[in-house]
Amino acid sequence: MDLRLSPSETAFRDDVRAFIRERLPVEIRNRLRQGHAPRKQDTVAWQRVLHERGWAAPHWPAEYGGAGLGTAERLILLEELQRASAPLPLPFNIAMLGPVLLRFGTPEQKRFFLPKLANLDLWFCQGFSEPDSGSDLASLRTRAVRDGDHYVVDGQKIWTTSAHHADWIFALVRTEQAARKQDGISFLLIDLKTPGVSIRPIVSIDGQHHLNEVFFDRARVPVAHLVGEEGRGWDCAKYLLASERTNIANIGLCWERLGYAREIASQVRQGASRLMDDPKLGAELAVLGAEVRALELTNWRFLLDPDIARKNPGFASVLKLKGSELMQELTTLLARLAGPSGLERRPDEGASAQHPLAATASRYFFYRAATIYGGSSEVQKDILAKTLLG
Ligand SMILES: Cc1cc2nc3c(=O)[nH]c(=O)nc-3n(C[C@H](O)[C@H](O)[C@H](O)COP(=O)(O)OP(=O)(O)OC[C@H]3O[C@@H](n4cnc5c(N)ncnc54)[C@H](O)[C@@H]3O)c2cc1C
Repeated sequence: MDLRLSPSETAFRDDVRAFIRERLPVEIRNRLRQGHAPRKQDTVAWQRVLHERGWAAPHWPAEYGGAGLGTAERLILLEELQRASAPLPLPFNIAMLGPVLLRFGTPEQKRFFLPKLANLDLWFCQGFSEPDSGSDLASLRTRAVRDGDHYVVDGQKIWTTSAHHADWIFALVRTEQAARKQDGISFLLIDLKTPGVSIRPIVSIDGQHHLNEVFFDRARVPVAHLVGEEGRGWDCAKYLLASERTNIANIGLCWERLGYAREIASQVRQGASRLMDDPKLGAELAVLGAEVRALELTNWRFLLDPDIARKNPGFASVLKLKGSELMQELTTLLARLAGPSGLERRPDEGASAQHPLAATASRYFFYRAATIYGGSSEVQKDILAKTLLG
């Protein structure tokens, strides 16, 4: 299958490109191009620029601040943002919680939360994983006990990305001990300023603070912040994971990292020649390009043809597995090309004299986690074995 955009899709893509060129601040673009994670203020500022155009939550209905775009346009928008080294709209707000509220939220919850999610007036984080419940998420133990018009929440979440930036958390909690562990789980929205909620940082192998532990000690949460029915939170969780698939393969980011690798290889010299003059490296880049292209075509086929998706229930696992592996290969290649310049602080330099490639090693380390978060590779392979082999 070739990837030919229709005339209207091509016009939309050109429109997106022109908008990004005009509105994305160069400083944000350069930081991300160099491999830094987006800062909170950059994500907020850029999401608000996109929101003015209806593109922060492109697939939501217009009445809640979206643009009602179809899957193809949404894919094009996400890919162009990533290719241009722009921050993505906060996935916890836009790709995860928003769709859940649109499907399961009360009219009051939709009216109150959705506009704030789109404009990033409220930053949400995701409280699913617990110290003993990751791949086997349904075994989670954080408890919420009904007390009048509140739940009293006790327990702990872990690996909570950006909880230290967040205002609220959407959390899976156990509201009853049911026979089947998927039952008796509820989906709660919790204000992180609630007394009894505390956050502790986890510094990961890249030396950065992205992750946290979140503790609940008799935290009182209004029943009005329950999403969907009590005990049916697993339905919300499954719906959330299905909604998250559109960008699971990170195609735009793969192209962007590959382009950056080519750029470095053309600039960095080893003796008299450029790294790019090495035919082995040229072949490696060509193979990676072919792999990204194959994944891109697979992504489009699965996401745009409901028939193919229906007949291949494990499709999201293929995208997650291959997309995360490719991102690891690309960040490994970048770290190799950057060499010692990719280290944040070299022994001979102060922290102030940072090399433009200084984020390369840290990104390499960060993406070791790509085959763990969002469902580990081993678990994806289990799913594929079951769906493909029966
Ligand atoms: C950078 C990062 C960001 C994250 N952000 C968030 C977040 O914002 N919110 C959130 O809720 N969670 C988050 N997570 C948690 C993530 O979802 C879990 O780490 C993941 O689901 C794996 O769970 P676990 O860490 O408990 O490992 P475990 O489930 O204990 O797995 C340990 C090992 O056993 C393997 N394994 C487990 N089960 C099977 C099986 N059935 N068959 C074969 N092998 C198996 C796994 O592949 C893994 O190698 C994040 C994790 C990381 C690393």
